[in-house]
Amino acid sequence: MQEDADGRIWIATLSNGLQCLNPGTGKFDTYRQDNSGLKDNHLSALCLWDTQTLLIGCATEGIQVMDLSTRRIRPLEGLGRVSVNELYKDSREWLWVAAREGLTAFDYKRGKVITLPQMPELTGKPVSAIAEDTSGNIWITVSNRIINIKVLRDNQGYSFETREYDNNDGLQTSDFNLRAMKRLQDGTILAGGLYGLNSFNPERMHYNRLVPKVLFTSLQLMNEPVSVGKEYDGKVILEQSLNFVREVNLAYHQHIFKVSFTTDNLILPEKTQFIYQLEGFHKEWVTLPKGEHGVTFTSLTPGDYVLKVKAVNSDGYASTDIAELRIVVHPPFWLSVWAFIFYTILVLGILVWIYSAILKREREKFRMKQIEQEAAKNEEINNMKFRFFTNISHELRTPLTLIIAPLEEILKETKDATKRKRLLLMYRNAQRLLMLVNQLLDFRKGEMNGHRLSLTEGDIVGYIHGVCDSFVLMADRKQIRFSFFSVMDRFPMAFDADKVGKVVMNLLSNAFKYTPEGGCVTVSLEHLADAEEFLEIKVADTGIGISDEDKKHIFDRFYQTEHKGMEEATGTGIGLSLVRDFVTLHEGTVEVFDNGGTGTVFVVRLPVKHVDVAASLPVVPEMFDEGTSSSEDTGQVETERGRFPLLLVVDDNPDFREFMSATLGLQYRIRTASNGKEAWEMMQENELPDLVVSDVMMPEMDGNALCRLIKETERTSHIPVILLTAKQTIDSQLEGLQTGADDYVTKPFNTDILILRIQKLIQRNRSHHPEAGTGRAVIDPEPSTIAITSLDEKLIEKAVKYVEDNMSRSDLSVEELSRELGMSRVHLYKRLLQITGKTLIEFIRVIRLKRAAQLLRESQLHVSEVAFEVGFNNPKYFSRYFKEEFGVLPSVYQEKEGK
Ligand code: ADP
Repeated sequence: MQEDADGRIWIATLSNGLQCLNPGTGKFDTYRQDNSGLKDNHLSALCLWDTQTLLIGCATEGIQVMDLSTRRIRPLEGLGRVSVNELYKDSREWLWVAAREGLTAFDYKRGKVITLPQMPELTGKPVSAIAEDTSGNIWITVSNRIINIKVLRDNQGYSFETREYDNNDGLQTSDFNLRAMKRLQDGTILAGGLYGLNSFNPERMHYNRLVPKVLFTSLQLMNEPVSVGKEYDGKVILEQSLNFVREVNLAYHQHIFKVSFTTDNLILPEKTQFIYQLEGFHKEWVTLPKGEHGVTFTSLTPGDYVLKVKAVNSDGYASTDIAELRIVVHPPFWLSVWAFIFYTILVLGILVWIYSAILKREREKFRMKQIEQEAAKNEEINNMKFRFFTNISHELRTPLTLIIAPLEEILKETKDATKRKRLLLMYRNAQRLLMLVNQLLDFRKGEMNGHRLSLTEGDIVGYIHGVCDSFVLMADRKQIRFSFFSVMDRFPMAFDADKVGKVVMNLLSNAFKYTPEGGCVTVSLEHLADAEEFLEIKVADTGIGISDEDKKHIFDRFYQTEHKGMEEATGTGIGLSLVRDFVTLHEGTVEVFDNGGTGTVFVVRLPVKHVDVAASLPVVPEMFDEGTSSSEDTGQVETERGRFPLLLVVDDNPDFREFMSATLGLQYRIRTASNGKEAWEMMQENELPDLVVSDVMMPEMDGNALCRLIKETERTSHIPVILLTAKQTIDSQLEGLQTGADDYVTKPFNTDILILRIQKLIQRNRSHHPEAGTGRAVIDPEPSTIAITSLDEKLIEKAVKYVEDNMSRSDLSVEELSRELGMSRVHLYKRLLQITGKTLIEFIRVIRLKRAAQLLRESQLHVSEVAFEVGFNNPKYFSRYFKEEFGVLPSVYQEKEGK
């Protein structure tokens, strides 16, 4: 209800709009929605702004403005449709609107809303009534509380401070009524509630100005209060009560804890409000709700924190001092500083280690590469040297042959003793030179490819005796007593004649070299049969002996001892190393001992083994043979010159051809050719030679090619061929044999032996090919082919039968088969290859495998039993060969085909 300047009374009604009582007439004017611009018939407040303006507060439609002179009503812009409870014009000419939506201050003149402080108690809450005290501060009622808003004016404008009062301050515990707040003249403010009036005089109000001081009261760990002096996980957390400690140390797992605090202010402590900040965690201060006096932390990461707390007392006075508590959450040991230092060192260490390892590897690689390169270079240089060395040796051998062989001839013819002596001297020295060259070649061969053993069965006693015989003359000359003893007359065993010969010769030549005149050299043989059988060869001398120190090294390559007083005894230091190599090749041993004070004994032990049977008895190697053999046993077979066998000698060296003509001319008719081509042309003539002796290395066509041509041509294939070469390697021998050569002789050779071989071959050939021996050599190809076929069939039949009969013997050898069939191995090899396309070994194997297949199909035998049954010692090899032949493994074959 308001009275305007003209004395009219304005009344806001709850449902009947605005009423105006005119005191002069005593009548009401009614302003309603239907007769004026009023928006709402439900009005709740009126405020006479000035003489001309009435503000009308609607229950739902906000505030309307009436111009009293024109009585026109319009809405007040800027405040919206609020539900007004009361409108109040203050001393500053601000309009305060108490609404259900809250409190709004409005600068009416400027038409602007004034921003009020955000108070949780205030915002959004319905405000019931408004009053202004004598100091211009605003008081409002909000439900059961009274809030004082202090309006402070400064240079920048206005600021506000709020303070709240409730039943704790002496107010009734009840809600206040709408618009029930008025200031009396003495400044007392009355506020009406459900139970009556509350009155207070703001001017006479006393405030609690005591600044609160925050005290820490207690610490809780996992909801358990922490006691002073008590150990938690082996550690005391609080030495004294929390308020006295400045720092709390917690382990990383003690991360759920609560710190409680209070203030020293005892006036209305429940209205004290705490504000805190955990430095290291919060950036802002956090205000706790009133009445709360503790803060709980969960899952703080290890670290260093400071809990800062301040308080505001009931009258809004805040602490000046901030209470601080340092809280240290210690990391677990694996996250501690030391751990990180350790990790860092570890990682650095590993990195350094990896780096150095890589560096080392690279260096090592580089070093290895260097070594390899160096080794390759050295190897190449060595190879070059060796090649040179071998070439020279080969070059020396051919002329040496040409010296020694004619010398032998001359020696045989010379009867004059003095001439003979000189010739013998020449012969001996040539032989020595030859031995040296041979030794070098042997050495080089061992260096390059290693030696290979080729065992033949024979009488070793006779053989060694033969070797010793060649030293008899030397013994005579040096006045040395030389004896040979053997317990056995004969002793057949398998040995490599060439190598055993060289072993004995080396030992003997050393013995003679290092034994002065008048000494003794003895060779003795003995058969030792303990656990293993051995043949022991002892070469003893009474020479200068070998010191114990030297004994350790004499078998080393190039090792030579000091030859006290024996200047002529020079050497190369490879003889004994060859001895050791050859003996080791036989799986034997060689040792050196003192010979009872003076001289030396070399003891060689060779294990006794056996192979099939020697193809022929070994011949004494061509060394130190001082030409004692006579040519009687090579005697002429036939006297009539025209019926002498015809030899074709093929060599590019005219001296050699001449020498051969002179040497062989007595027993043979000789034709010569300077190379393979010429020889082949000669062989196109009517008369075919009975035998061809050919050098291997020749211009135009070499010996191997010639031999192949001869053997592959029907007309000439029966002619035996002997290949001569200065090359001594197994490989070239093999090549020679593969071309079908019947024999193979290394230069230099002993002429007698060559003659013997020629003779044998011619004899054998004549018995096999009687028609060829007549010298007419007319062959009718047709019948012979037929004959050959039937012969071949017979041959195969015989071979198959023999293999089948001996199927289970794994040691059935090619030699044995050829012997059984009465053919040379080479011959049989060639024939079989021609007829079956298989080598001898393959031939035997295929027969074995076919029988195996049969057994697998028809017997109950296990695969390995079948393997042994058909002569395979090793089932693995059996499986491999079986698969090669039949394409499946024997086990699979048996499964598929067996019953
Ligand atoms: P060399 O060609 O020097 O004889 P060897 O390898 O045959 O080479 O021998 C090596 C060394 O062993 C020789 O230098 C020699 O001093 C010593 N030697 C070998 N056999 C005898 C022996 N029967 N008596 C004394 N010393 C020997």
